Amino acid sequence: MSAQILDGTAVSRSLLESTAERARAFTDNTGRKPTLATVLVGDDPASQTYVRMKRSRCERVGLSSRAVELPADTSTDRLVEEVSALSSDASVDGILLQHPVPAHIDERAAFEAIAPGKDVDGVTMHSFAAMAFGEAGFHSCTPGGILRLLDAYEVPLSGKRAVVVGRSPILGKPVGMLLLARDATVTYCHSRTADLAAAVREADVVVAAVGKAELVRGEWIKPGAVVVDAGYNPGNVGDVEYAAAAERAGYITPVPGGVGPMTIALLLEQTVQAAEAKA
Ligand code: NAP
Repeated sequence: MSAQILDGTAVSRSLLESTAERARAFTDNTGRKPTLATVLVGDDPASQTYVRMKRSRCERVGLSSRAVELPADTSTDRLVEEVSALSSDASVDGILLQHPVPAHIDERAAFEAIAPGKDVDGVTMHSFAAMAFGEAGFHSCTPGGILRLLDAYEVPLSGKRAVVVGRSPILGKPVGMLLLARDATVTYCHSRTADLAAAVREADVVVAAVGKAELVRGEWIKPGAVVVDAGYNPGNVGDVEYAAAAERAGYITPVPGGVGPMTIALLLEQTVQAAEAKA
């Protein structure tokens, strides 16, 4: 069997087109563009690249972006102050605090300084709770993007056994909750899981969200399963052993070109949504 590719680049393109249209309409109506503020602390090259990509994508879609860059020795208090100022700035619609911040900073405190109405990256406890309760709110962008990608291919989820490998607050946990909300039967695996291979072998849907190159072996994949690889490791390698997994899976996301483009597209869509809600 050779899996059908879940093409995040193609699906994100149409999401970006509809976002661009909404941004144009918002700008015509209000005389200003929807605005995303990005906050970057320190000089981690990968984080700098991610922020640059998000800002350049904003400009291409007709949003404006405002960059706040802070030195690596920024204190928690100072960062909270900066984020709070953006939260009360009427010209800012959405706020993205690039994760991870330097280790000495209390990242949770900084995230919680984002006003819920501007939490377009879906990182606050408010957004997480709203998502868990099935209430309106912003989704964490990578999990939300994954669901949009699965929906674009009409992948059935109800009654399916889903295994999420990873339980981080921005990725593993929320993606499991979104799958649960679609009536999948969800199992979380993590670094203390006794037999990861056995859990994955049972899964109709596997989401890999770890950050370890090819941790999920192709031979573990149940024939016909849906494989979503959110991992991104040096050398454009995901968390799934792609070639071998693609031989067995029914659907699979490539790395790159799967989950990554959906994440950015959702961030921009949610920024326009925040601007519309405010207006
Ligand atoms: P994270 O916070 O480091 O979490 C990693 C998770 O993997 C943890 O829950 C950890 O378990 C689990 N884990 C570690 N080793 C494991 C093992 N041997 N077996 C099973 N589980 C194991 O990472 P993250 O922020 O969620 O990111 C995960 C990956 O997604 C990274 O590659 C990152 O680059 C990528 N990512 C991609 C996007 C995108 O837009 N495509 C966005 C965000 C992240 P414990 O909880 O027990 O420690």
